[in-house]
Amino acid sequence: MSSSSSSVSTTTTTTTTSTNSNKNDIHIESNGVFTMTEYKTLCVICDTLFSDDSEVALNEIESLLPKNSKSPDENNKEHQLNILKEYFKRKSSDLDVAGQFLKLIAATKSSSQISDLKTLLGLLSTTGAGIILTGQFSSFVNLPLKSRQQVLTMMKSSSNPIRRQAFKAIVPLVISIYYSVIISGETSNPNWDAVGYDTPSPPEQIPGEEKLSFIKITSETSLKADAVVIGSGAGGGVTAAILAEAGYKVIVLEKGSYISSNNMSWKESEAFPLLYEQAGTLTSDDLSINILAGSCLGGGTTVNWTASIRTPDIILEEWRKQCPNAFESSRFNRAMDSVSSRLNVNTIDTVLDGTGAHNKNNKILEQALRDLDADPQPIPRNTKNCDTSQCGNCSMGCRSKSKQSSMVTYLEDCCSKGGQIITNCQAEEITTTSSPSSGGGQTVHGVIGYVSTPDGLKYRIFIKAHIVVCSAGALHTPTLLLKSRIKNSNIGNNLYLHPVIPIIGEHTQPVDLWKGPPMTVISKKYQKIIPNNNLRGGKNTGSILETPNAHIGLSGSNCSFIWEDSFNFKKKFLNARNFSAFISICRDTVPGKIRLDKDGKSPKIQYKLSDRDWKSMMPSVEASLRALIKNGAVEASIPMNGFKPANQDTIEQYIKSIKSNGYKSNQTVILSAHQMGSCRMGSSRSNSVVNENGESWDVKRLFISDGSVLPTSVGVNPMITIYAISHIIANQIIQLYPLPNSSSTTTTIAATTSSNINILNDEINHSPTQIAYERDN
Ligand SMILES: Cc1cc2nc3c(=O)[nH]c(=O)nc-3n(C[C@H](O)[C@H](O)[C@H](O)COP(=O)(O)OP(=O)(O)OC[C@H]3O[C@@H](n4cnc5c(N)ncnc54)[C@H](O)[C@@H]3O)c2cc1C
Repeated sequence: MSSSSSSVSTTTTTTTTSTNSNKNDIHIESNGVFTMTEYKTLCVICDTLFSDDSEVALNEIESLLPKNSKSPDENNKEHQLNILKEYFKRKSSDLDVAGQFLKLIAATKSSSQISDLKTLLGLLSTTGAGIILTGQFSSFVNLPLKSRQQVLTMMKSSSNPIRRQAFKAIVPLVISIYYSVIISGETSNPNWDAVGYDTPSPPEQIPGEEKLSFIKITSETSLKADAVVIGSGAGGGVTAAILAEAGYKVIVLEKGSYISSNNMSWKESEAFPLLYEQAGTLTSDDLSINILAGSCLGGGTTVNWTASIRTPDIILEEWRKQCPNAFESSRFNRAMDSVSSRLNVNTIDTVLDGTGAHNKNNKILEQALRDLDADPQPIPRNTKNCDTSQCGNCSMGCRSKSKQSSMVTYLEDCCSKGGQIITNCQAEEITTTSSPSSGGGQTVHGVIGYVSTPDGLKYRIFIKAHIVVCSAGALHTPTLLLKSRIKNSNIGNNLYLHPVIPIIGEHTQPVDLWKGPPMTVISKKYQKIIPNNNLRGGKNTGSILETPNAHIGLSGSNCSFIWEDSFNFKKKFLNARNFSAFISICRDTVPGKIRLDKDGKSPKIQYKLSDRDWKSMMPSVEASLRALIKNGAVEASIPMNGFKPANQDTIEQYIKSIKSNGYKSNQTVILSAHQMGSCRMGSSRSNSVVNENGESWDVKRLFISDGSVLPTSVGVNPMITIYAISHIIANQIIQLYPLPNSSSTTTTIAATTSSNINILNDEINHSPTQIAYERDN
């Protein structure tokens, strides 16, 4: 699922329903966060998006039959007709889409985002005030269906950004839920038969030796370790493994859950809440960028698409201007060699027997690139014996463990050397102490976190540590530093997102872009990196072309631009199997920021796609659109509201129009799966958060080791770059703070414990600053 939160900011005074709530007005499924009145308003919106279209469909239904190619009995016309009739009859409320929507928002969004959604729902149920959004004096909920459909269509491409934002706050998520939700007691979504999406098989329960080692927390607990690593993704995984290998007693804290192969459901509505930040609904604060980021054991590496691309030399050259040691060519290349070897990066799984393991979507891109003389290259991937018959669910985890994620490589290495992991543990604060050894400056002291249990309990834990490594990713590392009141004005600045424009083709045959290895072909023809010496992110950078992995819910949410009424959307989406998608990934030059949300806890992602970066993506977008049509696509488009997909006759006019329209926030779907730079490494405290060793300028023995240290946008898929710089930082930690001899390490460590980690229950009530770390003495 993707997109949509809810932050339509408006200063209009309105009677939001929440203020007048009483007990009977509570929407129980959202835990009372929303009222029944708000729920009912949302129900009307959802039933506008998907209404009972059985009457309209009656005349056309026979002609739609051939497109419905999947059925238990292909020849049974009656059966297929019934599937279609049910599909066109099905309203959102038949699946309680509104209830699912509010439940998801209540569980994942910050209080300020929830309050924005309440304001929006209030406006749509109010006579008069709602005119700001709908252009109608009557309240939206009281309008007849046709008028409601017209209002929503008007809003999505309105010149008023607030209206576009309101559309974005609701519609993509409703579409995603309509095509992915599984109602209680069922095993699949009832729309799947009509659109030809197969129900994922349940995971096999394969008994196996557990190579990961977990600490189970069942009460308030105090622990002690040589190094705490916060976050278990690319940066956290390799850092934890290297420190454990060097003999450090390592604890890894991960706020997400451990989803083993046996528990990977591969159903979006179940998998995304367990694997992604905000269940895949994270956006920038104005909703204009949909952000996918992993939040589970292994972080982004558990859900990513395995493209393992080395840092371009020209980028390393740019970064060396500020950080000559960290990005020194031979050193960085050695680090990339080392991580590539551990992650089994190879092209054999991509170019099987020279015939290509490309799925249909990648074959379409490869052919398009050949036509464009755009040098299609196979993408190296971190896989081992990829079982291509199972592939395609990479974004919901790899059951066969072919994907060499941090979870099945470095975290296992870490645990084999005595490291331990605490999952569902959100680090809330890095504690510091002023130490004489740092001339009165701050030194790291430990980490306070909260562990959530499946039965809804929360336990506070405190871990006293010699070294703290923050590897919470480029969204959460700055958030945690800000929450910990670490003083450095660069924290959260320089956020790069690699903005992505999807380019969608519609073909006459199934493409099934959710099947097969997702990302196996790349073209760099449209990327021209001109480095910049002063960390300003380069100029005129262009974009690379690749392909995404998108299942039915995610595909649906990205198709909200074609929604004009319920019937026609449902009809169009019968062709979901025939859609192909390329992605143009931009090396962005104008960064955004991470700030603390009003709740003081969550990241507020402030990012506006610049005109310059939008324009730099246009050559690859334009070329892709033409190539799609040339190669037999019946339609091609980008998800831009207000522009109908182009066909052979209209393609040139279409390209002209989208170029002259330019970029407007919330008009075009812009995605991001790569977040970088928000606590960057640099040459001085005035331009960065950490030094070349990855150590904080402000707090001794606090390191950052993840995508947030990258000085600027890397311009290619960043996983290998992040692993490599984290590899370098981990080795710097060992150099700078080698383990003292064993006599001092054991001062407070109980020799009897079977675990390397010691539980210090007597310290649970101490405030962090009261405990001095023995090693320093
Ligand atoms: C769908 C998708 C596809 C991708 N495909 C590719 C690809 O093919 N190739 C590629 O190079 N890159 C890809 N990426 C990007 C790549 O996976 C990330 O850039 C990389 O994983 C980032 O590493 P990291 O260590 O910075 O953070 P992450 O891997 O995001 O890890 C951070 C971890 O920290 C945890 N955390 C956050 N805050 C806290 C806290 N307070 N306490 C405890 N834990 C916390 C998070 O839950 C998360 O698990 C993809 C990403 C996504 C989402």
